[in-house]
Amino acid sequence: MSQLVTAYIGLGSNLDDPVGQVSDAFVELAAIADTELTARSPLYRSDPIGPPGQPDYINAVARLSTALAAEALLDALQAIEQAHRRQRDVHWGPRTLDLDLLLYGELEIDSARLQVPHPHLAVRAFVLYPLADIASDLSVPGHGALSTLLAACPAVGLERLDHEH
Ligand code: ADP
Ligand code: MG
Repeated sequence: MSQLVTAYIGLGSNLDDPVGQVSDAFVELAAIADTELTARSPLYRSDPIGPPGQPDYINAVARLSTALAAEALLDALQAIEQAHRRQRDVHWGPRTLDLDLLLYGELEIDSARLQVPHPHLAVRAFVLYPLADIASDLSVPGHGALSTLLAACPAVGLERLDHEH
């Protein structure tokens, strides 16, 4: 029997019906082998980071309970991204779906293809706010309490969407 690990996934989209992309992605996360979707944050709208002139992003965070190793979970996330026909041409450019492994239990990972906690997690409002919605007591390995990170990161350019989609 495998150990179950709690993992958090950051979802983002700013192309081709972003609300639909993110909503579909939650369903696909729930269908990953040996993995359960245990919580989903509300959706947020955020100002784009990177090249100017991009559409706004829709962001959210999912909590998973998984028996997969971190690299196998990343494989599954990348397969979902591919299924959404993600274009990788422009660094930080527009994308139909971005799935980031934010946290994998208490683990800190620094390999060629995987850094956990995700490098930008601690300073990105569009990650911290939805994360806090579903995990307010969380401690981020290497960074400390989520509440402290949140207090240092104003929700500028971030809007919670209260409507059901
Ligand atoms: P970003 O999410 O920073 O905008 P990408 O999604 O294009 O950029 O990331 C590309 C690479 O980031 C992937 O090939 C993957 O191997 C690597 N990577 C490193 N750490 C992580 C992580 N925690 N979650 C997702 N991808 C990661
Ligand atoms: Mg990514």
